[in-house]
Amino acid sequence: ERHVSGWNLQNSYKKLSPGLFTETKPQRASEPEMVQWNKEVAKSLGISKDWLQSDAGLAVLAGNQLPEGSEPIAQSYAGHQFGHFNRLGDGRAILLGEQLTVNGDLVDIQLKGAGRTPYSRGGDGRAALGPMLREYLISEAMHGLRIPTTRSLAVVETGDDIVRETLLPGAILTRVAASHIRVGTFQFAATFTKPEELQALADYTIERHYPELLKEDNKYLALLRKVIDVQAGLIAKWQAVGFIHGVMNTDNMTISGETIDYGPCAFMDRYDPETVFSSIDVQGRYAYGNQPYMAGWNLARFAESLIPLLHEETEAAVKIAQEEIGEYNRIYIHKWTGEMRAKLGLFTAEEADKALIHDLLELMKEHEADYTNTFIALTYRKLEQPVFKEWLSRWQERLKRQEASEAEVEQLMKNHNPAVIPRNYYVEKALTAAVDKADYHLFDELLAVLAHPYAHTAEQEKYKEVPVQDDNYQTYCG
Ligand code: AMP
Ligand code: MG
Ligand code: MG
Repeated sequence: ERHVSGWNLQNSYKKLSPGLFTETKPQRASEPEMVQWNKEVAKSLGISKDWLQSDAGLAVLAGNQLPEGSEPIAQSYAGHQFGHFNRLGDGRAILLGEQLTVNGDLVDIQLKGAGRTPYSRGGDGRAALGPMLREYLISEAMHGLRIPTTRSLAVVETGDDIVRETLLPGAILTRVAASHIRVGTFQFAATFTKPEELQALADYTIERHYPELLKEDNKYLALLRKVIDVQAGLIAKWQAVGFIHGVMNTDNMTISGETIDYGPCAFMDRYDPETVFSSIDVQGRYAYGNQPYMAGWNLARFAESLIPLLHEETEAAVKIAQEEIGEYNRIYIHKWTGEMRAKLGLFTAEEADKALIHDLLELMKEHEADYTNTFIALTYRKLEQPVFKEWLSRWQERLKRQEASEAEVEQLMKNHNPAVIPRNYYVEKALTAAVDKADYHLFDELLAVLAHPYAHTAEQEKYKEVPVQDDNYQTYCG
């Protein structure tokens, strides 16, 4: 029952506890204008390109009209924000429904910045153009880097200014996600709904994301293990490319394992585990080097939420939860070491690899080396600074202890060391031109090179330069 527009929506989340959502309609945008839309995402959703470019398409993505079959809701959740537990919810996002994709997957379609909801608290429910373009660009970059992420179908300018420190053009981003079920959704259900409603959420989550777990004896334990595994894998990939999320609150951690909520995120230039860009992260809780620990902390909150489901006796359930959380470090280190081995062209595993990786990072930190460019230089055997000499000969010896040819090593390295990342300098330039001058040339060019970061093409060369390293660079939540 796909409509001519391509919409084929379900509203399955509404079968869950009424406490988990509120029916909410998007607010009107007065003069909507499409500024960015995603051909590849539209195609995978089965949405017609012609429809998307028509007045009807614009009206839907501006929140002025509902697509066929949509029963819009705002979702409620809770979360630890910088360590403090709060009752939250979609304060500026409306879930239009779940689209059945061309491949038969069910994905959430959400309008971000579509106006106030019952969970808006003091907020205006709106989003500014700059941050929505930033989410579009960086989420596409993450997809190009082969890192699980939500994606963006479009950015529409609303024609309404919003009030921040100054007046800013308002915009709506259409976010596409495997789902928006978060650690915080489970925290909400565990804290504010009945046990059977928590169980219904867990069953729904398993059926939607991990149906293979339905046959497990203890499917809730299997869910916990699975989420620990996918999140450990996700964070290992973030660390491997130098991505700093910036606001890893439990409401910004998905059960699907996708990266979500691109607010104050940014990529690290110079290698330093203490790197923080977010203006609100004054303690450095979510610094680059802390991300693996914070993920473990968040997963412990997830495990706590599942306690009523893990065993009939609370004491036994707590023990199970603790045991699983105790595994996180090992799982994370294993996955991260795997990512780093590939960056160094290693097909085999030796115990001493951890020291080899560690010592390289120590050198990079000591000599303030650019993270991405150091791995590119290694890939092309152009890392020539004397300080790396001793380390390089150890690496050469290590490479000799595996069967792979030089060409195979180079290919593996090219596949894991991006030629281009969304560096702060280029992202800011592209966003400034787009927002201040409605000039999308730089934005489109950057978007295009970021789509294939492992292609190592000639036009990516210029993005390797880091013209100015701004030590005070700050990002905002938008
Ligand atoms: P975030 O840190 O972006 O995940 O946001 C935390 C919470 O604040 C979420 O529940 C958001 O929906 C809400 N929020 C953020 N910005 C606004 C806004 N402009 N109006 C209403 N709620 C907002
Ligand atoms: Mg959020
Ligand atoms: Mg946000």
